[in-house]
Amino acid sequence: MIKLIILDVDGVLTDGLITYDSEGREYKSFNVKDGYGIVRARRMGIEIAVVTGRFSSMVEKRCSELGIREVYQGVENKLKIYNYLKEKYDLEDSEIAVMGDDIPDIELLKRAGLSGAPSDAVEEVKKVVNFVSSKPGGRGAVREFIDLILSEKVE
Ligand SMILES: [Mg+2]
Repeated sequence: MIKLIILDVDGVLTDGLITYDSEGREYKSFNVKDGYGIVRARRMGIEIAVVTGRFSSMVEKRCSELGIREVYQGVENKLKIYNYLKEKYDLEDSEIAVMGDDIPDIELLKRAGLSGAPSDAVEEVKKVVNFVSSKPGGRGAVREFIDLILSEKVE
């Protein structure tokens, strides 16, 4: 049974595009259906963590909107955060699900009990995961992954 879902941001919670305005401000778009999936998972007692190599105030904002408490940005070694969360919540690898789309996510994806990737993840990632979504990053891939997890939870 999955108790923690770790999500990457760029290319998973977003379509991977980073838009800048003339002031150098950065914009990302998040998917409402993904958001509802996250809220539903949290209501069912699943902890959600967001781990990203970049830093963006928009990620802070979106996560606080969704009530995500575990937010780690500017992370160089994602496996360190994985191990930290695993210990903090006293979990087995089999109780952790990870969704990622690119090379920095591979170690986590291999470690987790359940791993997923959006349809437009890089081939190296798609090769190692248990589940490839029918949807690309930022377009419902996270929702599909969470729905899969929740459907197995209620069985
Ligand atoms: Mg990514």
